[in-house]
Amino acid sequence: MIDVKDCKSVWNNCLQYIGQCVGEQSFKTWFEPIEPLMLINNVLTIQVPSQFFYEWLEEHYVHVLRKAIDLYLGPDGRLEYQILVDKSDQNRKNTMHSLHKGSIISRSVNPGQHRDEMYAKSVDTTILDSTLNPHYTFDTFIEGDCNKLARSAGMAVSNKPGLTSFNPLLVYGGVGLGKTHLVQAIGNQIRKQSSDKKVLYVPSERFINQFIEAMKNNNAQDFTNHYLGVDVLILDDVQFLSGKEKTQEIFFQIFNHLHQSGKQIIITSDCAPKDIKGLQERLLSRFKWGLSADLQVPDYETRNAIIRKKMQFEGIELGEDVIDYLAYSIDTNMRDLEGVVNSLIAQYTLSGRKIDLELAKSIIQNIVQNVDTEVNIDYIQKFVSEYFSVTIEQMKDKTRKREIVIARQVAMYFAKEYTNMSLKSIGSHFGGRDHSTVIHALTSVSDLMDTDKKFRATMQDLIKKIKLKSS
Ligand code: ADP
Ligand code: MG
Repeated sequence: MIDVKDCKSVWNNCLQYIGQCVGEQSFKTWFEPIEPLMLINNVLTIQVPSQFFYEWLEEHYVHVLRKAIDLYLGPDGRLEYQILVDKSDQNRKNTMHSLHKGSIISRSVNPGQHRDEMYAKSVDTTILDSTLNPHYTFDTFIEGDCNKLARSAGMAVSNKPGLTSFNPLLVYGGVGLGKTHLVQAIGNQIRKQSSDKKVLYVPSERFINQFIEAMKNNNAQDFTNHYLGVDVLILDDVQFLSGKEKTQEIFFQIFNHLHQSGKQIIITSDCAPKDIKGLQERLLSRFKWGLSADLQVPDYETRNAIIRKKMQFEGIELGEDVIDYLAYSIDTNMRDLEGVVNSLIAQYTLSGRKIDLELAKSIIQNIVQNVDTEVNIDYIQKFVSEYFSVTIEQMKDKTRKREIVIARQVAMYFAKEYTNMSLKSIGSHFGGRDHSTVIHALTSVSDLMDTDKKFRATMQDLIKKIKLKSS
């Protein structure tokens, strides 16, 4: 019997789980396009748009898929892919345009099989149990001034879980700054060094849902026991426990118990412990027992290195100009990078388009959430250089000619006014000038506007034009 309804609900459950494990953009790119087709004898068949898509899923998401299938179909559950193939497709480069016109071939795949050895390792069940992403390791976590303390504390904890004074270790910082990556790297490292240690990584949302479910089914005790049995507990995004009194209570008990037995606790939060609203004081005071380390926005060099690492890992070669552009544009949330990487690869592999600056720019504009995407630094430099009849190169180099200095300062001023760029980042777009030069430029422009009527009129004209562009 083909059970269409059931196959949909099973897949929806899988998607919910997968959504918690992968980034939003990856989810959109790689999971939303999938169609569940049927569920027969515990084999769930899903349709994917292309061979490449299938390979990508198997290479990057096999552990998540396996876990989802385990959860909702049990260990005997299997996943089969059907690949939508473009009839006219002789070379895969053109598939993109005609994906939906294709015929379907069937391909049976057991997630995790047919992969190379490295991958076979990553589906090791013990790792799966802890839902750690095997790619999040210290090797792939770039060190920078922004994360020195957190990273080295993480290393120390990995070497001696539960035995350092960093217990709990609380890592905090804004979205996309690498909290999840770092704490999972700790988990992976501990597992690598002592395979007998039980490491459990849990996003707070899942912790909350599991608890609610346990309460409903009257087995809160099982829930607690599950958590008390671990050697290392990693609770990601603790701020989501805000206002959830019952869940906080149970977490408090688990925390105390684990801490007393010398088990390691690692927590992340999107802000400093003292600023987390809606958490009970007793819980917050427990966090102070250990170490709180923050992750800051990575500087340009670190972002550049992160991008290189990611691209190297994905096997993508990019020109220096593209890397520079990405490092300039993705400046506060490294998670945007995942979306950009996925899109770059999809574009490149599916449409065969070379990854040049133009493609990178168009992708960035769709992904990076920057209210001023329209008026970005490139636009400002071009606009100002045209207006003042100087070249962009002149604005970037050392020339101290008055008209060039003015153009440069005005462009810096607009970059500050109309983009979210930091002073440092602005400076680096003008031939690597430092932030004090940018501050000087901003002051000069303001002073001139106050004192020079003609200059003020020029600026008003420019502002009007820029506003046209951004509206
Ligand atoms: P958070 O949990 O703080 O929101 P994530 O850990 O999900 O952030 O990081 C977002 C993305 O940025 C991930 O792809 C991660 O690998 C990458 N990333 C962030 N910081 C670094 C770093 N220092 N080195 C390498 N990758 C990083
Ligand atoms: Mg996170």
